[in-house]
Amino acid sequence: KLRDNDISHVVEADRAHVWHHLIQHAAWTGDDPKADPRIIVEGRGMRVWDQKGREHIDGVSGGVWTVNVGYGRERIANAVRDQLIQLPYFAGSAGSIPGALFSEKLISKMPGMSRVYYTNSGSEANEKAFKMVRQIAHKRYGGKKHKILYRDRDYHGTTIACLSAGGQDERGAQYGPYTPGFVRVPHCLEYRAQWDLEGEDYGIAAANAIEEVILAEGPDTVGALCLEPVTAGGGVIVPPEGYWPRVQEICRKYDILLHIDEVVCGVGRTGTWFGYQHYGVEPDFVTMAKGVASGYAAIACCVTNERVFDLFKDDATDPMNYFRDISTFGGCTAGPAAALENMAIIEEENLLENTNAMGDYMLDQLRSLQDKHAVIGHVRGKGLFLGAELVADRATKEPAAEKMVQAVVADCMANGVVIGATNRSLPGFNNTLCYSPALIATKDDIDQIVSATDAALTRVFG
Ligand code: PLP
Repeated sequence: KLRDNDISHVVEADRAHVWHHLIQHAAWTGDDPKADPRIIVEGRGMRVWDQKGREHIDGVSGGVWTVNVGYGRERIANAVRDQLIQLPYFAGSAGSIPGALFSEKLISKMPGMSRVYYTNSGSEANEKAFKMVRQIAHKRYGGKKHKILYRDRDYHGTTIACLSAGGQDERGAQYGPYTPGFVRVPHCLEYRAQWDLEGEDYGIAAANAIEEVILAEGPDTVGALCLEPVTAGGGVIVPPEGYWPRVQEICRKYDILLHIDEVVCGVGRTGTWFGYQHYGVEPDFVTMAKGVASGYAAIACCVTNERVFDLFKDDATDPMNYFRDISTFGGCTAGPAAALENMAIIEEENLLENTNAMGDYMLDQLRSLQDKHAVIGHVRGKGLFLGAELVADRATKEPAAEKMVQAVVADCMANGVVIGATNRSLPGFNNTLCYSPALIATKDDIDQIVSATDAALTRVFG
């Protein structure tokens, strides 16, 4: 840890020079006397310490669902260190040892998939898939089958194309004009029902709504459908029974490529290696980022099956017939070196099993809070990826006010527990508390997170 005087300098440097992500800086720059910038100094297991030495249990894996194997993993650090000394970087058409070995390992967890394209961030991985879809449209369909469908409330990243595929309106507002050729389909959150049906019937209706959009647009214009397996920042939306099989059927019927965005769900978060594996889906593209190396190094991947890959090598005499794309830092070796160790930890410590067991436990614990707090309208989740939607009125399901939801998050933080909430991104619907503890969480950890939520709800809502 840094000494006290060093840390106060760090806080000043942060205040003066860092432009933080997703922050209205007025509350951080001293204009607000309550402004209390937080520097996280150290982490071990499920816990982090800030500049004042305050301990927090981390219920959201590094703030945004990332540190799946927890903090302080020396074997990841050592593997990265050794690799950096041996060879930090070489790109272009040359390979690297960890790049090849991690691809092999990753594909062994993804039956039906075969190729890994390395990149740096979830947004960029999604951009790669969008570009592949567009290039396939040009190669095979004269450019016509180029539209990409995305879903209301899903998020795929922060670039202009990803925002064009974004189902969270606040994130895109004021950044237009957007990229043409992206078309929205309805979300599948049964709690906020759009059809008067339940369970599997609801799931099938929500999937059929995608087919209606395809028919309205013209199936010969639609190249791909991009979905999160379980919607993350849009409110932790677990799809209803029947949804995914029907989605797959529709994609096959209209020859539409299926792109699954596993940036949050990937690498264990929901209790399987990938979220789509709960549903028996066979995707054409799978993108992933956060949990791939648990934040120990920047790495993201766009994984395809051989059907997609083959389309880029079917005519070697055509000078345009290859994926004309590069990602400079997709050649860093630290990413796959960290990712190999990350995956080995999940296997050796049986963290998928733990995620399923602890996820079920946490779901039960959060549901039991519903008896005490009328403000909890709905609890949902898969593995260690859970949400509790807060409402002003259970009967009407009117969402709880965003500032009250944020007050619950702040109360937990003040009491040493980090939880999250859908953050401003869905006007009118920023009312879901979010939980994604590391896959190493124990019952004790979960009890602490749930009891902090319980106390915060009492203090904020009475
Ligand atoms: N896709 C999903 C589902 C996400 O939640 C995110 C980020 O939160 C992204 C893509 C973008 O990833 P990145 O921030 O690494 O660009």
